[in-house]
Amino acid sequence: MFELTAQNLLADWAGQFLDPRKRLFWGYLGSAFLIALIWMVLLGRERPVSACRKLLARDLWCSASARADYAVFLINTILMGSIVPRLLGHAAVAVFCFSLLHDLFDGRASLLPDAPAWAIAAGFTLVLFVVDDLARYVVHRLMHAVPLLWAFHKVHHSATRLNPLTVLRTHPVEGILFVLRGALVQGLCIGIFVYGFGDRVSLVMVLGANAFKFVFNALGANLRHSEVPIRYWSWLENFLLSPAQHQIHHSENPRHHDRNFGVVLACWDRLFGTYCHSEPNQELRYGLGPAVADPHSLYTLYLLPFREGVGFLHRIFIRRWRRQLTPPLVPTDQYQSNRAIYEID
Ligand SMILES: [Zn+2]
Ligand SMILES: [Zn+2]
Repeated sequence: MFELTAQNLLADWAGQFLDPRKRLFWGYLGSAFLIALIWMVLLGRERPVSACRKLLARDLWCSASARADYAVFLINTILMGSIVPRLLGHAAVAVFCFSLLHDLFDGRASLLPDAPAWAIAAGFTLVLFVVDDLARYVVHRLMHAVPLLWAFHKVHHSATRLNPLTVLRTHPVEGILFVLRGALVQGLCIGIFVYGFGDRVSLVMVLGANAFKFVFNALGANLRHSEVPIRYWSWLENFLLSPAQHQIHHSENPRHHDRNFGVVLACWDRLFGTYCHSEPNQELRYGLGPAVADPHSLYTLYLLPFREGVGFLHRIFIRRWRRQLTPPLVPTDQYQSNRAIYEID
């Protein structure tokens, strides 16, 4: 069980930058920096020194938005460190799923007995990656569509400047939903694959991370939360979402709202009608606009979502309750005839 000690906290904070399974691993940050630099020098015709200055600009890294990102990062590590161990884990889901299939079909299946272990490992790694990407799309879309969830997801969209740490600018309630989503997806995939292929199931990993995730992170995933509008060729953006496309998701412009919910694959957005290409020389303003007065205060980041969520539930229940108490509006004649019927009864 997690113990809240200074040593544990330091290990957790440092772990975000030292663990290759985390987006903010120093190697991924370094590769993102190099990709941005090469992009700006080759395509933006910037001199390397001025490109470095832009990437490390003080007004970006010390902005009120960035300082709020750092505060959320530090606070969430403390909160989530004590919450996550108490949540449903993928092992419990996997055991449940395996037992359910075992009982339903009277014993274990032994699919493709002659298939080589590497092929099963590659298939499992790919399926896990694709299903996880779809689940991220679905949960992200729900966070925008359901007003109660949007109250919490707004914290991520309240960033007015983007830097790699913005990825962790999330309300703890969203963090809990994401942990549960991960446990369900991993548990279901592991349970089904172990049922079908037994102990031949394994994950193809690079430095302990899912190989596909490793490639995604190494190829500049951190640029999604940056102000370097790196675009892919148009045909490639139809398959993989570029950093510029996620920046569009953060745009304040109503034209861009509810676009590009996906993480890696563009197919979910294309399939469900939320896809948007990046634009050449796009210059975007980020955040929620003037609707939120103080987007970087701890009150807005942690307490306001609860207040808005409770307000939303209150409105729903009060409206329903009032509807039940108020007599239905029926024409007078009909009301009179109904009364007559009741009186006769
Ligand atoms: Zn969003
Ligand atoms: Zn984002």
